[in-house]
Amino acid sequence: MPTWTLHTEFKFDAAHFIDGYDGKCGRMHGHTYKVHISAKSHELNPSKYLKSADMVCDFKELKWAASDSKKGGFDHSVLNEEIPVATTAERIAEYIHKETVKRIPGNIELKVTVWETDTSWVEYTDQDV
Ligand SMILES: [Zn+2]
Repeated sequence: MPTWTLHTEFKFDAAHFIDGYDGKCGRMHGHTYKVHISAKSHELNPSKYLKSADMVCDFKELKWAASDSKKGGFDHSVLNEEIPVATTAERIAEYIHKETVKRIPGNIELKVTVWETDTSWVEYTDQDV
């Protein structure tokens, strides 16, 4: 079966604290988060910017979280004010996945990886792995 997989990476700077955490992560601090999104599809789609069915989806639809928090992204935000769930890397990845799905065609499998530091990251997908 023909299969295309888009990959994109971006970073954003944000502050957060983990509510209820008994330790230093419970205090406000910041990270440069890195995010990798892969988008896999067996067919190509049109997009808001291209009428013909020649792309999995627009890269820019995958990168919304990289934009300024005043423009709907997470850059230079306090994550606790932006997302309605705990700000663990696990929940951030799940939230980015959920919000990205709303922006792209329904035939795409997404995987979201969030690095909180260079050496600590989490992958999230809603597929069985
Ligand atoms: Zn942290």
